[in-house]
Order: sequence, then structure tokens, then C-alpha cells
Amino acid sequence: MLTCRRLVRLTMKNVDWCGKPYYSLDAYFKHTYGTKCYKLAVDAGFTCPNRDGKLDVRGCVFCSAGGSGDFAVGLSEALSSIDKLSEKNIVIYFQAFTNTYGDVDDMRKLFTAALCHEQVIGISIATRPDCLGEDVLLLLEELKKSFVHKFIWIELGLQTIHRKTEQYIRRHYGLNVYDDAVNKLKLLQIPFITHIILGLPGENEAMMLETVRYVSDISRTKGSEPNGIKLQLLHVLTGTDMADDYMAGRFRVLSQDEYIELVIKCLQNIDENIVIHRITGDGPKNILLAPQWSANKRGVLNSFHKRMKELGARQGMFNNEEK
Ligand code: SF4
Repeated sequence: MLTCRRLVRLTMKNVDWCGKPYYSLDAYFKHTYGTKCYKLAVDAGFTCPNRDGKLDVRGCVFCSAGGSGDFAVGLSEALSSIDKLSEKNIVIYFQAFTNTYGDVDDMRKLFTAALCHEQVIGISIATRPDCLGEDVLLLLEELKKSFVHKFIWIELGLQTIHRKTEQYIRRHYGLNVYDDAVNKLKLLQIPFITHIILGLPGENEAMMLETVRYVSDISRTKGSEPNGIKLQLLHVLTGTDMADDYMAGRFRVLSQDEYIELVIKCLQNIDENIVIHRITGDGPKNILLAPQWSANKRGVLNSFHKRMKELGARQGMFNNEEK
């Protein structure tokens, strides 16, 4: 496995994206492990400083009651379900709420339990950049050393680089905090995946592309495992404060055509060595208020691939490596 992963590093420039015009997570897994890999989303029982009163009690303006992990199951349930699966390569995705916020010993137990499972090839930990203190970083380093044949990824919910939007979504940390966290993760050689939301109120195309270019630049790596980007369409979910603003007509959501054109421009501006973990979103249909077209994920992806082909578009084609 290690040989295979090293090979990926050496040949990233020439990686076959499995027939797609962008470097998908699926292509990354196929090259690294020779097969498809599956992600299981987990709610490990954490909370979040944006909800428990440390920074706020209201949560981010778009976040659902499930802490953006509406399909997640408990860790024990996830691990016991793996035994029934025929798939061999599983990634445990600690998705709901902030998974590095709380007691470090509890984190150690949870992350270790996941990494110890034979069929688990790695874990992906969703968190906030302001919840990566020295104790957490030491734990990540310790786990990395203990599980050398498995990976540990960190997912950072940045969403935007713009101050005005940051305040509207109630993120409660500045861009400098993200930069700092990224630099620390780079020193530890822990790959990170940055989440960006497309279609946030008040943002135009130029602003969104600015965020994408910024994250692409900071995510570039030389000679180590590639970092990633998740592009997520803004989902307005019932029960959120954003739903109230939407219902009051304070902003509109993107149409499917607008979104597809925008995602293509984003990909063209992302360095070709960065793995694209997502190009749309997986909003829970039962609480999805808008845009309704996004519920047909297969249809959106088909239209997106068709349009990429028509345009001859490719990830990284507008990205200047010498910048
Ligand atoms: S999006 Fe993340 S940081 Fe924001 S309230 Fe939800 S769980 Fe907390």
C-alpha cells in the first residue's frame, strides 16, 4: 500500500482522472488503493463552540440541527455495519458538529477505535480551524505515527474568505485562523480538505472565484499527499435562520444552469493536483427548502459532465502554477 501511495505522489502530474476532466476523490482512491472506497458518515457525539455558547448558541446560519451531519450514525453502529458490508476499503468520516472540540482523551478513544478496524483505511475529521489547539495537533501526530498504513485527514469548514459573508454566516473566526491551522497541518503533513459553499447570500461570481483561487493556492503541495477541496452548493434547510431570510426574499438561490457554469469555472481555477472531494451537495431531502433541483443529484451530475465535455473544460486549465 505504501509503495502505491508513494507512486501516486511521484506521478500526480500524470494521474489519469479515470475518464473525468477533474481529479475526483474516486480517481484518487482508485489510484491509491486500486479500487473504489466508501465513506461512512459518523456522529460521534461532539458539539460545537458555535452552539454550546462558547462563541454562539445559534450555530452557523445555514447549519441544520444535525450539525451538518444529517445522514451520520453513531460510531459503534458504523463500525458494526462495516462487518456486514462486502466492501473492503472504508473511510470513517467524523462529520457531525466539530470533531476536535472537547476532551482529547475522548477523541483519542474514538479515532483509535475507527482506525483499529481492519477494513478502515483512514479517517476524515470535520472540524473548525479554531479547534486545532496544540493538544489536538499532538494527538493527530501521535495517531499518524501509530497508524502509518492509514490516513488521517482534516476537513475545514471555511465556506468563504470574505469578511462580510463570514459575519453573516456567524462563522466566528477570521481568515488568519484558517491560514494558521493550514500551516500547522502542513508542518505535520496531515492532508486537509477545505469546504467552500457556492451561492452564499451577498456573494457574486467574482467573490466565489476569489475564495476558490485562495484555497487552491494555499492547498498546493509539493511531494506529499494531495490536499482537497469540497465545493458545496448552498442548501437552504428548514429550521435554520437562513431559511427565514430566504422566505423573506432577502436572497435567491442559484439555478441549476448557473451552478453548473460556476462549478466549471471553479474547477478551471483549481490546481490540477488538488483532489475534488465534492462538486455538489448531499442535502437531506426531507428538510431541503431550496433549491429543489439539487435533490436530483444524478441529473445535476449528468448535466455537469455533459457541459464540461461541450466546453472542453478541465480542472486547473486557468490555474497558473508559477503564481
Ligand atoms: S456548520 Fe459546523 S461550526 Fe457551524 S454550527 Fe454547524 S457544526 Fe458548528
